[in-house]
Amino acid sequence: MELDIVEEAEQKQDLLTVDEIRQMIDLYNPCTDDYLFVLDFEKDTYYISPHALERFRLPGYYFRGVMDNLTQVVYEKDREPLIEDLNDILSSEERDSHNLIYRWLNTEDQPVWINCRGRVIRVAGRAVYMVGCINEIGRKQKADNVSGLLGESSLQLFLQNYTEKIPDGYFLRLGLDNFKSINTKLGIEYGDMVLRRMADIIGQCVHDGQRLYRIVADEFMIIDFNGGMAREASELYRNIRRALDQFVEENHYEAFVTVSGGILMCRDIQKFSYSQIMKLSEFSLTQAKQLGRNREYLFDQKDYDAFMKRKLLTQALRQSVADEFQGFEVYYQPIFHNSNGSLCGAEELMRYHTSEGMVMPGEFIPILEETGLIIPAGRWILYEALRFAKRMQETNPDFRVNVNVSYVQVMKSDVVDDIMGALKECDVRPKDLVIELTESGLIESDVYFTRLWRQLKEKGVKLALDDFGTGYSNFHYLNDLRPDIIKIDRSFTVRAIANEYEYNLLSLLSGMVRNLELKVCVEGVETEEERDKIALLPPDFSQGYFYGRPCAQDVFEEKFIRGV
Ligand code: C2E
Ligand code: CA
Ligand code: CA
Repeated sequence: MELDIVEEAEQKQDLLTVDEIRQMIDLYNPCTDDYLFVLDFEKDTYYISPHALERFRLPGYYFRGVMDNLTQVVYEKDREPLIEDLNDILSSEERDSHNLIYRWLNTEDQPVWINCRGRVIRVAGRAVYMVGCINEIGRKQKADNVSGLLGESSLQLFLQNYTEKIPDGYFLRLGLDNFKSINTKLGIEYGDMVLRRMADIIGQCVHDGQRLYRIVADEFMIIDFNGGMAREASELYRNIRRALDQFVEENHYEAFVTVSGGILMCRDIQKFSYSQIMKLSEFSLTQAKQLGRNREYLFDQKDYDAFMKRKLLTQALRQSVADEFQGFEVYYQPIFHNSNGSLCGAEELMRYHTSEGMVMPGEFIPILEETGLIIPAGRWILYEALRFAKRMQETNPDFRVNVNVSYVQVMKSDVVDDIMGALKECDVRPKDLVIELTESGLIESDVYFTRLWRQLKEKGVKLALDDFGTGYSNFHYLNDLRPDIIKIDRSFTVRAIANEYEYNLLSLLSGMVRNLELKVCVEGVETEEERDKIALLPPDFSQGYFYGRPCAQDVFEEKFIRGV
């Protein structure tokens, strides 16, 4: 027994002490991106390269209570396997290695894949400590072997030199348009060849002192910190584009590839940090692509603010839909019979309130459509409108309600089922509901529209063709679809009042519509003069500020129900 202790002590003397290892880790710290560590099983302490703190949600780079504290940084689902593995090392007498791929949480609480490899040092079979290295397996490469250029993490490193003084110059972020389709159509190898050529082309166009990086698959970043101006950035972009066109031509248009460029001037970057630069340059490139691709865009704070505003509005709308439509409101605009001026019903118009005030549909309906939120929101407003109609019918039995339906609802949801279900639930007759659909949506989604149209007609729901006279006036639709009502858009009305030709067109249309036994509603009548002129047509229904503005439910009742 005594001999064993002596032997153990001798073995221990040959080992580096944990303190010595910690000193070595400190020495290595600036030389590697990996994280070195030592876990002292005897003292229950853990020491890791200090720069790990900048990346991971660790309690510190040196701490006691390994199991409890270390597991804090481990992604919840991966804690169990780690604890099992460490317990296994402790209970075993010979296991001398640890090799686990699992996830740690970074400082933003996002899981990051790591590979932790360790060597267990034992004395007389007992684990004394473990030394090892953690590396991030998902980390971006510093250089890219396809294009031969430095990659995004090199760019990040380079920009770290500029935290204090903002340089004068620009960033030009280039992105190949539709690169994915080249890979799918012509193969990855061909795609790689295009990328290499692109890198060559850009390399030939940049000047001395400018830097070039490949940031993601098909995006490159040129940095000019030599006081380059926007005009020069634009010229550089055009040179690259020209060279790329030549390459496409030389290859007989086998791969038709174009390039978009986002220019970001250093002076426009308020917070000169890597993440901000990436964000703003990405925005600029996206703008260039959205403008139609194969073109450049110069960063403009006003556009960015509008983009951010839209982003925030999108988030708020999403939240409101999740919160049972808090913030949404329905406004109603009266529609009158032209013959005797009596109230016929109302059109529902959506409104949205944020902490900063009311937002108009022109701003938020496109977002609802883009995100698909128009489906739940449209369903909600349908029920609101029908419940409102039911109440109005207590005093005005023929009261009708007009509900706008978007082409997204038509294409992506069972809107007929929704409508019929809502009518039944709210106990409203189908003929008291007018569904308004626009011409433009109709053209884009013909088959869906005609199916919906037929089904609703069969059920007895009334149909209105909205915004007639905007865009292409497809008169033949009138004959094919036979809507119950044509709603003449205000822009047409305004043109008709100002211009004799348009007026004749409108009255011709009116006559034609009447021959087809369809009804006409003129929208957007604002003044007495407009009303008088329009009255000559004459339309069947009128709607507009002159008769009544869209308003909240209680105001509507006050003004148009009790007020009569
Ligand atoms: P819309 O269906 O053509 O609705 C008529 C628009 O004209 C309304 O604008 C209304 O406030 C406005 N208006 C009415 N009378 C006059 C007038 O005399 N002069 C002028 N200048 N404007 C008048 P609003 O409420 O801003 O709605 C804009 C558009 O948003 C609507 O055009 C409709 O396309 C869409 N929208 C509104 N609510 C909904 C909804 O619940 N669902 C769907 N899918 N779209 C909606
Ligand atoms: Ca409408
Ligand atoms: Ca309209």
